[in-house]
Amino acid sequence: MEQRKIGVLGAGQLGRMFVEAASRLNVEVHLLDVGTTAPAKQICSSDHHIDGKFSDASKIEELAKGVDILTVEIEHVDAKALQTVQDKGIVKHIHPTPKTIALIQDKYLQKRFLSGKGIPVADFASVGPEDAESSQAGAAKIAPLQVQAIDEAVKQFGLPLMLKSRTQAYDGKGNYVLKNVEDASKAVESLGAGSRGLYAEKWAPFVKEVAVMVVRSVSGEVRAYPAVETYHENSICHSVFAPLRHNDPAVAQRAQDVAKKAVAELEGAGVFGVELFLMSNGELLLNEIAPRPHNSGHYTIEACETSQYENHVRAILDLPLGSTALKVGSSAMLNILGVADLDADKAAIEKTFAPVVASLGVPGTTAHLYGKSGCRRGRKMGHITIVGNNDAQVRERYQILVDALDIAKK
Ligand code: ATP
Ligand code: MG
Ligand code: MG
Repeated sequence: MEQRKIGVLGAGQLGRMFVEAASRLNVEVHLLDVGTTAPAKQICSSDHHIDGKFSDASKIEELAKGVDILTVEIEHVDAKALQTVQDKGIVKHIHPTPKTIALIQDKYLQKRFLSGKGIPVADFASVGPEDAESSQAGAAKIAPLQVQAIDEAVKQFGLPLMLKSRTQAYDGKGNYVLKNVEDASKAVESLGAGSRGLYAEKWAPFVKEVAVMVVRSVSGEVRAYPAVETYHENSICHSVFAPLRHNDPAVAQRAQDVAKKAVAELEGAGVFGVELFLMSNGELLLNEIAPRPHNSGHYTIEACETSQYENHVRAILDLPLGSTALKVGSSAMLNILGVADLDADKAAIEKTFAPVVASLGVPGTTAHLYGKSGCRRGRKMGHITIVGNNDAQVRERYQILVDALDIAKK
């Protein structure tokens, strides 16, 4: 059916689930990532994959030469190189656009953009120089300016204060929760001592974290998946519950509306993951957007009419979008996070995968393992989706998996 080829920057677990969806539609995918055994490459046989970094301009150009459309499974790519391959006419379509990727990869610019468009976000302020490209050479000069700016932000927003790296953040790794103003230099030190652009966010004492996947077509149509509850531990997504339950059913609708409004302001097609904070007064604040399929949307593979991965394929190929509706009464997702520090620690690897073994005896569950060889603590090694007729049934099934992990850890 489809003659066009897609190139993907990144070949991790999101790429792996993307190629599953693409292969069902006979769409050829070329992957760029380091090594030959990256999770997505393992299940997508091709002589056209490229061994290299998605932040390497020459490798991006090499990938672009062999495909019709480029997309990303991670935002930490060289957005300038993407713009260049498009400007040179090497590839015609890049989704989302390099401009959108560049905007999103700098969380401070992203926040400024969204608040400028009237999207509710936590109050925030720049920390130190506005120019994110503060060079290593200037780091010694920049760090004291950042400490001074943190003092100002504490006066403005109070404590605790959330300090965030503007770029290269994931799983909370670029975040620092400042509890005392005296710790400002320690915070700057731990976040990169002046060599990294930072910004401050007012603490959001949310009651729940919410996420909404949104798919955007080439012509700008936006469709939202159901709002879901995401539960994080140590800033890493632990579980997702779909749909979002709240005594006020309007909350889920409002979350979808905010997410759609935000994504409608961006350029380019594809799936976007929108993270939100639900406050005690029912207010929703947008935390951040991912310009790609997202952990909080894994459940859509088993629980929705069209998965986030298939809709990403359809959107970037300018094919009709699929329904985003739930096709089951209720669903949950449990991440399989590494509990081992050493690859060689066989006992810890067994603990990590204990919920997967348990899931084999639980109806309505589907395990997805990512084929990662290194099992570091907190690393996303796989996930399990649970579906059922109602929340009670899904919670019961979910609990068996969580209990299996707790027992294994004892
Ligand atoms: P991701 O892996 O989702 O890309 P990230 O490293 O970009 O994460 P954030 O999403 O900004 O980091 O923050 C990680 C987590 O920290 C959030 O999911 C939330 O639990 C908490 N958090 C972030 N900002 C705030 C805030 N302003 N107030 C309170 N908690 C926050
Ligand atoms: Mg992030
Ligand atoms: Mg996040």
